[in-house]
Amino acid sequence: MTLNPQDYTGHVTAPGKFEGEARATLYYYELIMNGDGEDITPQHSDGEPVSEGLSLVRFVVDGEEAAAFGKDAQIECGDIVIILEDGLGFVSMLAFASDDAAEHWMYEWFGQPCKGCLACA
Ligand SMILES: [Zn+2]
Repeated sequence: MTLNPQDYTGHVTAPGKFEGEARATLYYYELIMNGDGEDITPQHSDGEPVSEGLSLVRFVVDGEEAAAFGKDAQIECGDIVIILEDGLGFVSMLAFASDDAAEHWMYEWFGQPCKGCLACA
């Protein structure tokens, strides 16, 4: 199933799990429901999630998506987007210029020392 990014411009105003997000977040979330994206949810070594209900899925923004979402979501072609669903079911989108930047953010977010992105190496 293919979604048209042009159908997801603007922002979500309705209350709920996407409130206040660019509608691009909804687009990526629906892609996840279709089985797309790379699940990068951190897990303990025993496979248990580090945080109950937390989910992080990674996408690389393509040109068509950047053209549709760039203004609302401030993303560019080639950016790394992480769709984060928290334990309460709220969904947000984070965008990074590189996997390196995304990796650094993830370590910081979990309160761990960065294992050596380019900026920290
Ligand atoms: Zn770092």
